[in-house]
Amino acid sequence: MPDTAENTWSTQLADIRRQGLWRELQSLQPDPDADRPLFVDAEGRLLLSFASNDYLGLSREPALRQAAIAEMERSGVGAGAAPLLGGERPAHQALAADLARWLGVEAVLLFGSGYLANLGIISALVGRQDRVYADRLNHASLVDGVRLSGARLQRYRHGDMAHLQQLLERGTAGQAWIITDGVFSMDGDLAPLPEIVTLARRYQARIILDEAHAFGVLGAEGRGTLAHYQLDTHSVDVIMGTLGKAFGVYGAFVAGSQDLIDLLRNRARSFIYHTAMPAALAAAARASLQLLRDGEDRRARLVEHRDWLRAELPDAPWLPSATPIQGLVLGEATAAVQTAARLREAGLYCPAVRPPTVPKGSARLRITLSAAHHREDLTQLVTALREIL
Ligand SMILES: *Cc1c(COP(=O)(O)O)cnc(C)c1O
Repeated sequence: MPDTAENTWSTQLADIRRQGLWRELQSLQPDPDADRPLFVDAEGRLLLSFASNDYLGLSREPALRQAAIAEMERSGVGAGAAPLLGGERPAHQALAADLARWLGVEAVLLFGSGYLANLGIISALVGRQDRVYADRLNHASLVDGVRLSGARLQRYRHGDMAHLQQLLERGTAGQAWIITDGVFSMDGDLAPLPEIVTLARRYQARIILDEAHAFGVLGAEGRGTLAHYQLDTHSVDVIMGTLGKAFGVYGAFVAGSQDLIDLLRNRARSFIYHTAMPAALAAAARASLQLLRDGEDRRARLVEHRDWLRAELPDAPWLPSATPIQGLVLGEATAAVQTAARLREAGLYCPAVRPPTVPKGSARLRITLSAAHHREDLTQLVTALREIL
């Protein structure tokens, strides 16, 4: 056979299959009127989901839907242009102002997604000569942002502050940056932020904090990891958050000083060259922020769910985590895939997470809890897991 592109693609695909890393899209239709995370799959089977990052169950809230529809009637569907070229609407400005007030920062800049935000923030702020220190389990978008900046990436062992200090101690040239998730997306544990802040002060490093899984879930008014540790917003230099997780919408934002936001608006290429998020989503996110701030009951339910689940399966291979992200480490990719398939037969949707999303040999079930789950939903999950594990 000639060595065509197709030929090498098929070789690569065969490798992916052999390693148990094959990925397939499937469409799940939410039941929008259910008060729990229920979906219907392509075969018409009802599935209870433990896979969504919609931690507070806000994506189905009538207030969000109504806000989106009302704004869509005013503004149409697509924004039609980049934010700097006519795509910005009053709804975007109102959302940015509300987010800034909520966090107690000077200003906020909206992005189309968290992935775009991280690429834009890091490549705009970090110079090629700078040094970047990043937790080994940081989200892929943070890693890619550093790659785009051209700076040297030094990864410290997950949560290991002695290792971070060692690396900081050795560095000399350029500005030092510490980049971390607040809540780690696959393990669900927290970054040791107080220690990171202390080290940053000592070594004059700047901090970029990604709060994708922390906003809405942790701290007073859902203000995230900093609030959880009762640290001031100004303890870090850049805060990134997404609107697609606990907010239940789509999009992302950066929060910080007016200078930071002015600089990013002028320099972040993924901001300058992207089409503004639809105004209807900005309006929905504003309605969501209101519910999220006042969501103490939902946050309390999440804590109850988590404690109950772990107490019911005390001997399961849980990762340590105090958040709604609860990982069961099963080892090989094939073991995780088989477990997920058996859960699915029991009407439960909780897909396996495999390398390269998680380190080799740590394939897992990533169970995510939602305030929208009922206790009976958790009972169903526990019963199924007892049979399978
Ligand atoms: C989901 C996620 C992102 C990306 O956000 P999107 O809005 O989904 O593009 C960035 N960082 C972390 C830690 C995430 O979990």
